[in-house]
Amino acid sequence: MKEKYADIIIDINNKNVDRSFSYALPEEIKKDITIGMRVKVPFGKGNRTREGYVIGFSDEIKIDENKIKPIIEITDKYPIFSPDMITLAKWMSKKYYTTLSASLQCIMPKITKDKTIKYVYLTDAEKEIEECLKKVTLQSQVILYLKKNKRATINEIKTALGITISPIKTLEKKGIVRIGEKEVRREVIDTEKYEKTKPFIPTDEQKNAIEKISSSLGKKDSRPILVRGVTGSGKTEIYLRIIEETINRGEQAIMLVPEISLTPQTVERFTGRFGKNVSFTHSKMTDEERFDQWKKAREGEISIMIGPRSAIFTPFNKLGVIIIDEEHENSYKSDTTPKYSARETAIKLKEITGCQVVLGSATPSIESYYNAEIGNYELITLENRVNMSFPKVYVTDMRQELANGNRSIFSKPLFDAIEENLKNGKQTILFLNRRGHSTFVSCRKCGYVMTCEDCNVSYTYHLHSNKLVCHYCSKTVDNPDKCPQCGLPYIKYFGVGTQKVEEAAKKYFPTARILRMDLDTTGKKHSHENILNEFKKGNADILIGTQMIAKGLDFPNVTLVGVVAADLTLNIGDFRCGEVSFQLLTQVSGRAGRANDEGKVFIQSYQPEHYSIELAAKNDYVSFYKKEIEIRRIQMYPPFSHIFFVMFSGENEKFLIDSLNMLMDIFKTYNARTNFDLLGPAPAVISKIKKQYRWKVIVKGIEEERVRNFVLYCMDRLREKVDLSSVTVNMTLDPTFIQ
Ligand code: ADP
Ligand code: ZN
Repeated sequence: MKEKYADIIIDINNKNVDRSFSYALPEEIKKDITIGMRVKVPFGKGNRTREGYVIGFSDEIKIDENKIKPIIEITDKYPIFSPDMITLAKWMSKKYYTTLSASLQCIMPKITKDKTIKYVYLTDAEKEIEECLKKVTLQSQVILYLKKNKRATINEIKTALGITISPIKTLEKKGIVRIGEKEVRREVIDTEKYEKTKPFIPTDEQKNAIEKISSSLGKKDSRPILVRGVTGSGKTEIYLRIIEETINRGEQAIMLVPEISLTPQTVERFTGRFGKNVSFTHSKMTDEERFDQWKKAREGEISIMIGPRSAIFTPFNKLGVIIIDEEHENSYKSDTTPKYSARETAIKLKEITGCQVVLGSATPSIESYYNAEIGNYELITLENRVNMSFPKVYVTDMRQELANGNRSIFSKPLFDAIEENLKNGKQTILFLNRRGHSTFVSCRKCGYVMTCEDCNVSYTYHLHSNKLVCHYCSKTVDNPDKCPQCGLPYIKYFGVGTQKVEEAAKKYFPTARILRMDLDTTGKKHSHENILNEFKKGNADILIGTQMIAKGLDFPNVTLVGVVAADLTLNIGDFRCGEVSFQLLTQVSGRAGRANDEGKVFIQSYQPEHYSIELAAKNDYVSFYKKEIEIRRIQMYPPFSHIFFVMFSGENEKFLIDSLNMLMDIFKTYNARTNFDLLGPAPAVISKIKKQYRWKVIVKGIEEERVRNFVLYCMDRLREKVDLSSVTVNMTLDPTFIQ
């Protein structure tokens, strides 16, 4: 090391210290220190010892030479961040407007104590060993044992010879044995448990995808790849082959799944193929377990890391590919600061490291498909299921059911289908695509939904005021007693919960065994898995649940899926309603008839002609995309613009609204040239959580960076005027859903 100083980020998440500080490098640590290490440094007036991260070295300093302080010591044996990860953290802090220290914190694992075992081995004190062996004692038994076994733990010796520790200690004192320490990993996969599996012979569509992706590996100028493959088209086999290819190239792979509950089945399939090369990581593991998996990746002990979004930060040496399954899922966007999107982060990592990125989905996000359409991504399509037919999908018109005098939540066709399924011993899933607790108002007679025409989102019903509020622009109108479309008095607010469905199912099918899965029934650890296992084992006839049951799960005996009220996500007061509904309906339909029996799906709705429902029923993604992208273009929603949500939450609602109004005034002052769309203040979609009111303003503009800079600048001006310490400020660029 020739440089004299280190650039250090102090581990304090505060804007005022969000820059690097120069520290002197004492001679004795120069030979060990590298970029990415944690160090202890004196900081501030009182020279309190603080943790810092080394992000660079230099010979120049910005401050007076004799004010410079030396680094106290290096914290760990090795660097925590590679130079690439530091580049990534810098990008994150800019993109997601956090301090560099917060971004580094987000990337790094919780560092815990190494797990070690003590073992005993013989020294080369030949003479002493010989002397000891003439005497037949416990000590010589230990020596003989170690001659045979080279090294053994204390416990092994104690059990094998039936002795206490004392002869071992005596041998140590005599210099005949030594007790060493060895670091071991905490294992999270019992590889023995999984049967080895062989690759399938790929279908033509799979072959095409595998070839295309393989030929792009290792090429710096390749584009990210979007794989749109219908449910059951065998995307997992493609991922497995790509990873095999990656490993053959001497590189490593990150496999992202949308949520923790989907990790076990992926681990099973990947361990079956790659054995000990696989590990996983997620936030329900202990810090120690996670840190050990991180070390395994770093030390090259594994080549594949599986996990939800945070697995994106796995510190492989030569990352070859990142695969993001179900890439459209909201869960890939973090909801805590920094609010990174794993998808965006993966694309950035491609740029930094040269790895390939593969995004897979049956229903890609509108943004990703748009990126493929305009040529930013390469598109690969799989239109056929591997070895099953598509389920038959029926859309049932609930307005007609009402006209026929059926007031229950089950339409006649769905009721008949459930009854028949019960008779045949087949299983049924009843699905509620519920999000949050928002309620909209619609006409039961004609299906008309009260909608804000300025924003093209449904009004939200406010119980206490009996008014309808647009949660984008805050326009407020009276709740009509007659339908503006058909003139009849069937206007009602809409709400169906899983409990209500369960009650109805019990009433109409008293002999059926029913399981319910929602937030209320899955509070305890493993309850989620337990419910699904019970159902898989055939211990229930009907499973009722929310979107928790929609994803990726394979139940061979399920031949019927009923979507009780498709309208629930269609009208939630957000511009992504159409997209989210289409995705959920397509996914849940994919659950029916995965084995040999033909599946049936019933989608119940008051708006059966809505394009999301019609096209999901036809399994027609491309037509859906064309329709949706046109609406986005006309309404100037993403991907044609960027929208920045600034949400304030706190107990004092009036203060929230007043401060947001002030922010709005500041926006207006500075908006003369930029000409962004300004909306609000309006209540958040979930307008109150645990006594905390939630209000937001929205800024919409074309260029991401300009919108962001504008909002951040105006927020600083607001902070100069008002004390926001009683308010939680939540800023999100292009929120995925529900804010
Ligand atoms: P997707 O993720 O696209 O919905 P999966 O990867 O779950 O689909 O595959 C659907 C089913 O087809 C799985 O049971 C899988 O084991 C099986 N499968 C995949 N590829 C093949 C193949 N080439 N030959 C036979 N079966 C296959
Ligand atoms: Zn509006």
